[in-house]
Amino acid sequence: MVKPVKTDVVIIGSGLAGSIAAITAANEGKNVIIITKTKNLKSGNSPYAQGGIVYKGKLDNQKKLKKDIMKAGAEHCWEPAVDLISKQGPKLVKKILIDELNIEFEKKEEGKNDLDFTLEAAHSINRIIHCKDKTGNVIQDKIFNKLKEHQNITIYTNQTAIDLLTLTHHSKNSLDIYRKPACFGIISLDNQNGNIIPIYAQKTVLATGGLGQIYLHTTNTRESTGDGIAMAWRAGVRCINLQYIQFHPTTLYCDQDRFLISESLRGEGGVLINDKNEEFMHQFHPQANLAPRDIVARSIYQTMLKNNRPCVFLDITNKNFNWIKNRFPSIYKNTFIRGIDMTKKPIPVVPAVHYSCGGIKVDLKGKTSLSRLYAIGEVACTGVHGANRLASTSLLESLVWGYLSGKDIVKSSKKDHYFPPYLPWIDETKKIDRSLISKDWLTLKNTMWNYVGLIRNRHRLQRAQTILKHLMTEIDDYYYKCKLSKEIIELRNGVQTAVAITLAALETRNSKGTHFLKK
Ligand SMILES: Cc1cc2nc3c(=O)[nH]c(=O)nc-3n(C[C@H](O)[C@H](O)[C@H](O)COP(=O)(O)OP(=O)(O)OC[C@H]3O[C@@H](n4cnc5c(N)ncnc54)[C@H](O)[C@@H]3O)c2cc1C
Repeated sequence: MVKPVKTDVVIIGSGLAGSIAAITAANEGKNVIIITKTKNLKSGNSPYAQGGIVYKGKLDNQKKLKKDIMKAGAEHCWEPAVDLISKQGPKLVKKILIDELNIEFEKKEEGKNDLDFTLEAAHSINRIIHCKDKTGNVIQDKIFNKLKEHQNITIYTNQTAIDLLTLTHHSKNSLDIYRKPACFGIISLDNQNGNIIPIYAQKTVLATGGLGQIYLHTTNTRESTGDGIAMAWRAGVRCINLQYIQFHPTTLYCDQDRFLISESLRGEGGVLINDKNEEFMHQFHPQANLAPRDIVARSIYQTMLKNNRPCVFLDITNKNFNWIKNRFPSIYKNTFIRGIDMTKKPIPVVPAVHYSCGGIKVDLKGKTSLSRLYAIGEVACTGVHGANRLASTSLLESLVWGYLSGKDIVKSSKKDHYFPPYLPWIDETKKIDRSLISKDWLTLKNTMWNYVGLIRNRHRLQRAQTILKHLMTEIDDYYYKCKLSKEIIELRNGVQTAVAITLAALETRNSKGTHFLKK
């Protein structure tokens, strides 16, 4: 049997949120284990963030940012969280990203100090700073250097968290404070050798990112299988707003994948056109190409249906060749290798699942409803995004709640020394059937795309629920009969998260933001 590992803090996920929490807690003396299910530390959606991060534009202030967040969120946001992010967000960008990590955000002019503020949909002012179109990648590279050199941080790559270790009943040996449910760490699978390792921790942080992979078309990375929500759900942790799934309006329409075409392309003057070269967004919203994401995504979808076409087009050929190549190097390269020269031709685009606005309910410090458990980043629901997220606020939210949860962990972990006994996991020996796994993924992705997608109705949602519940029973059955592997853990989590989203969608009888019901 593999012996349990003990630490002060275990963080699941090495995206922006998890990494910032790890550094913050470790800086104040906590021993931190950070795990990721990929072979490399660089994983999840954070390194793929293109557009940038909200900062503070000229003539900008807390009130204006708050107003834009609330409006984009269909006024369904939790006001204290919006107040917090609009006040603390820009300060923490300055403190952590600009001053401590020395990230070189793009300047207005070479050699000058003025930052280049770009615009994205539903922002009333230019306030987004960026590293061309590779913002997430540049930030994560700098952060990983810090993680690797920190003596209080231990990194476990190629480790898949299976479930939370919880104690749901009063135990005779426990301290008084654990007469209520609490989390004591995780059990985790070493993907390489198949060992199942308990990691005991005074504080556990879920920073597992998004869930886009449960849909057929998504901008999200392979890792985004909704693991955190599923783990929390199984442990009885409160989740909210799961019905609000944001679709990015513009991803590349091609055979290979759904590469994201950043909103900042429209912020810089790109326009959406149909197959007859006609602009169409002004028919749908006064902000036209820069309307909130949910509106642009649905407008594109409706235009595609009306014209019976599989995509629309995004045209930025009004800008010159060198400007485009310099401002959007990554988008230029990635569209070019897929056969499209965006300097000469409009880019074919379709909407795809991009972001989960809901998640594990947390307070202003990232605390969940389960004692000793935190959730941060995309897996959490702080209430900032309401029913629809304002562009470029997700990195900001990961930064703010990563930092504040790290601080809170340091402050509040003095009394948390109790750990319940661990009963070793007896694994099965039977191997999984890989073809069944891939077929189940297809059923899951198609069901979510067709029935819990951009435009929903009760009948479709009920059909999804029937299919998903049956699938979940089947998957659970062979989960307990086969040798554990990353593939089966992810599939079990994916279907669990899909069931939770569908349930939330069924319970929400009115359209709001990204949850759009049509009779
Ligand atoms: C293409 C793209 C472009 C984007 N552009 C922007 C942008 O310009 N601005 C903006 O603000 N936002 C943007 N977003 C959204 C933003 O990138 C994400 O919401 C944010 O990075 C989430 O950070 P995170 O730390 O919560 O999760 P992630 O960065 O997704 O990290 C999740 C981590 O959890 C790990 N993990 C998951 N499950 C397990 C498990 N069971 N066991 C172990 N490890 C696990 C993963 O391996 C990974 O390390 C974009 C998203 C995408 C997909």
